Amino acid sequence: MHIEVRNLNKHFGDFHAVKDVSFEIEKGHLIGLLGPSGGGKTSILRMLAGLEGLDSGEIRFHGKLVNALPPQERGIGFVFQNYALFKHMTVFDNIAFGLKVKKIPHAKVKSRVMELVELTGLKGFEKRYPHQLSGGQRQRVAFARALAPEPQLLLLDEPFAAIDAKIRQELRTWLRDLIERVGITSIFVTHDQDEAIEVADEIMIINQGRVEQKGTPWDIYKEPKTPFVATFIGESTLIDHISELKGFEEVKNDSGTRALIRPEYIEVGHEHEFILASATEAGIIRHLHFRGSEWLVEVEVAGHKLITYRSLEKETLSIGQEVRVLVHRAYLFNEERSWIMENR
Ligand code: ATP
Repeated sequence: MHIEVRNLNKHFGDFHAVKDVSFEIEKGHLIGLLGPSGGGKTSILRMLAGLEGLDSGEIRFHGKLVNALPPQERGIGFVFQNYALFKHMTVFDNIAFGLKVKKIPHAKVKSRVMELVELTGLKGFEKRYPHQLSGGQRQRVAFARALAPEPQLLLLDEPFAAIDAKIRQELRTWLRDLIERVGITSIFVTHDQDEAIEVADEIMIINQGRVEQKGTPWDIYKEPKTPFVATFIGESTLIDHISELKGFEEVKNDSGTRALIRPEYIEVGHEHEFILASATEAGIIRHLHFRGSEWLVEVEVAGHKLITYRSLEKETLSIGQEVRVLVHRAYLFNEERSWIMENR
């Protein structure tokens, strides 16, 4: 289903929770709504579902305005973190529930449930009750139940939030695969950036009721449009006076320009390791965190603390050591625009 949202607004009393939100989702795409707690992600999802009214704006499914359509007529499947299974029903009956409500003939219900049991990897568990399943299995039943009536849109609100890290990791890959096979348009709410990056075709960063940026995970990482997005996705350092760093002297700070520097664009090392040592500047190592295959290095340059990586193969660094630092590239932002600057 193709989704179109225009100028969506929602107030709770005086509080403006969703502010003029517009976006489109292509048929079959999986979109991740990512952002800090209280940003408005769930409210947007609930308005799409018809569980929450909207103050103004338009929601269209396949070009048709659905603002006034009740939830059961929107063709939507849900999987929520706390959207519990029916405890007194078996896996089979849980999955069959939405089909029985629609008065679908018994034989058809059975074949559809078996198809979903297969699809969600639950074969052999049909007769079990929810308390006889692991958390991950229960969430898979929730997916099967949501997909059974063949919805055109799947809404997922932190579906893995209550599941422990290892299983959650497996479920991400599982979900990605499932959505691809079913080919259903899906929206996935999370505040976990790794989850969004791994699972979604596109991410929408939601902050304080607004869409800060929408794009593929790679595009957002590579070209963040605001400092908020830049710091929310990936590791980085945000600094206010980049003109104090070598190669960036021409940047004017008076216009409120801030700079973001990703770790991969900073090199630290000893003087002899640089081809052009004169292009580097003095720094002091302040912190070293061992990351398994590399060190995360915090280096102080001209009073700024920058974060970078250093592979294990190179000569080791130590805290307090004087090093040379080269900043290759920075993202700059001010009130009007964002741009990339290379150190040449
Ligand atoms: P989280 O990640 O914590 O779920 P979220 O991004 O999904 O957050 P929402 O649940 O959409 O955020 O909430 C957005 C804002 O609206 C919050 O400040 C919240 O307190 C407020 N809000 C949500 N629902 C209501 C309500 N029914 N009445 C009053 N305020 C509400």
